[in-house]
Amino acid sequence: MAGAPDEPVPGPAAGEQLLQQHVPRQVFPEPLAQAKPQQGFLFSFLTHNQKCQLMLLKTLETNPYVKLLLDAMKHSGCAINKDRHFSCEDCNGNVSGGFDASTSQIVLCQNNIHNQAHMNRVVTHELIHAFDHCRAHVDWFTNVRHLACSEVRAANLSGDCSLVNEIFRLRFGLKQHHQTCVRDRAILSILAVRNISKEVAQKAVDEVFESCFNDHEPFGRIPHSKTYAKYAHRDFQNRDRYYSNI
Ligand SMILES: [Zn+2]
Repeated sequence: MAGAPDEPVPGPAAGEQLLQQHVPRQVFPEPLAQAKPQQGFLFSFLTHNQKCQLMLLKTLETNPYVKLLLDAMKHSGCAINKDRHFSCEDCNGNVSGGFDASTSQIVLCQNNIHNQAHMNRVVTHELIHAFDHCRAHVDWFTNVRHLACSEVRAANLSGDCSLVNEIFRLRFGLKQHHQTCVRDRAILSILAVRNISKEVAQKAVDEVFESCFNDHEPFGRIPHSKTYAKYAHRDFQNRDRYYSNI
């Protein structure tokens, strides 16, 4: 049951579907805690696609996680273009979004993303996959450990686990909760896109967990909140300036 202390990861992977078979679009469970609708009277008259485009624009312009990732992608020679690399589409099931490695395009599921906070998280999560795709030769199709590593990083760095993490840390003081959340989410994400057993997915995640959990690039730290993400962005810009001056 979602929200129970012994099972802190919200939303089972059940009901999620591949956006398209044989296309390595990564999907992940939709947290239930932030399902409040977007505010605004005029907003309610817009189509799903118009709402998706507006929320995406706001995310790209204001979210510190996303701004850092966009800078990092540019720095790595993979500059992101809003019209070229994002696509708002209707998706089957509970899928929130995906990264299509064959076209380097991020799909945003306009029928399933209903508020700005969710849009922020989906874009951040998928941009981490895009960043990994840019900086490393990720074998998404056949090497489950590569996929596992990127899912660990996306769950660790996107804020997917931060909200529940904060609540549980305050309530129960569980230091290991963040790691548990990241591990569980990575396994669910793999199972949502690969037809493999839970044991194989768990093994893949456990084999890569330590090194991939400790790989915080391009954040340099685990950004537990927007404030952390802002500091990380500032540090990245300073680092970037430093290296471009030597
Ligand atoms: Zn993912």
